[in-house]
Amino acid sequence: MIKRLSDPALLDLLFPFHFILNEQLGFIQLGSSLQKLNSKLQVFEEDFDLVRPGLGIQYTFDSINSYSDQVFILRLKKSAAAILLKGQFVRIADEKKLLFVGSPWITNETVFEKTRLRIRDFALHDSLVDLLQHVKVQQMAVEDVNEMNQVLIQKNEQLVALNREMRDAREDLEIKNTELSKINTELDKFVYSISHDLRSPLLSIKGIIQLIPVKEKISGGAAKYLQMAEKSVNRLDQTIQEILDYSRNARLDLKLSSFSLVQMIEGIFADLRYANEYPVSFSLEVSGSTKIQSDKYRMDTLLKNVIGNAVKYRNPDSLEHWVKVSVSSRNNQHIIRVSDNGTGITEKSMPKIFDMFYRGSSSVSGTGLGLYICKEIVVRLEGTIEVESVYGVGSSFTITVPSAYQE
Ligand code: ADP
Repeated sequence: MIKRLSDPALLDLLFPFHFILNEQLGFIQLGSSLQKLNSKLQVFEEDFDLVRPGLGIQYTFDSINSYSDQVFILRLKKSAAAILLKGQFVRIADEKKLLFVGSPWITNETVFEKTRLRIRDFALHDSLVDLLQHVKVQQMAVEDVNEMNQVLIQKNEQLVALNREMRDAREDLEIKNTELSKINTELDKFVYSISHDLRSPLLSIKGIIQLIPVKEKISGGAAKYLQMAEKSVNRLDQTIQEILDYSRNARLDLKLSSFSLVQMIEGIFADLRYANEYPVSFSLEVSGSTKIQSDKYRMDTLLKNVIGNAVKYRNPDSLEHWVKVSVSSRNNQHIIRVSDNGTGITEKSMPKIFDMFYRGSSSVSGTGLGLYICKEIVVRLEGTIEVESVYGVGSSFTITVPSAYQE
């Protein structure tokens, strides 16, 4: 029996689930946390079941008071969760009032969720707070994991979308690539057939011009015009031949055979010696085997162009013009070097000489296709072509190609 009821606020702070009953067992004071569970408590018997003490106890002031030395367990009937309160009754002296002090008896953490009880609803000394804190930490961890999961799902979706876009782009690219290759092949075929068709009438004109006997009496003017016509026809023929060379290289697969580079180079020397109006001194230096397994037609076109240029771009100021070719082989590679003491190439022209239609000099006739074709051929042969040159001194082209290919 306590003598004096302390300050209700202090009581609430220490026992937020307390309540006070009058003699008729009606509620006259409710702790704030108890109110949170049910704010409409009126008559003890209707609102609580007595779980402990069990048998013998009655819903009367005196009966309950007589058990004040025992622990009570009360079941709150009208609440979101079947919540139990554990505590004791104390009689307030002279006032015929019973004070219950206790707190929820929770064995299952889901009660917290159902009743929405929070840490601040418990007194600080209440051991349940530890459990609640533990549950809270767990809940926060679960929320964190859920949040992270959500972010991961979002990122995953973004990745999937990105992947899809990339796949679409790749498919587009593949389609475009196939279309382009088709157009390219068609264009090559077209160039080939046009050049081929153009060449036949041109050769007829060339033949007819050559049929006109030189000694026939043609007045001076007409002879000059005829010469000009022949020059133009020859130039056009050279252009068409080079376009055909380019087209053949682009269209046809490698056709491999074994042949001698010496024989090929000497053949080219002979042709150039015969076609050239000024003297050129040709020399060929060989070390190692000159037998090669390669594409004969492409190799011939390549060497004709490079050796042809070495002859064509002679230096008009030098008394003797020479072209030196050396052939060597090592590590399944043939190296062919073509040097001349011609005009040389200016530094400005050097980076462009392998470009299509690039001409570094207009003093001699040409199409600007020769070295472009050479570069394309070298790519097909899986080799390289390099140039060194000093303007006014001469040039040197180095071609490296495989000596043989694996079948
Ligand atoms: P083209 O001879 O018909 O002009 P090419 O593609 O064969 O075309 O050569 C491109 C340019 O490279 C030539 O115009 C010329 O200026 C330069 N060139 C090529 N070979 C030589 C060489 N041996 N000596 C000097 N210049 C050269």
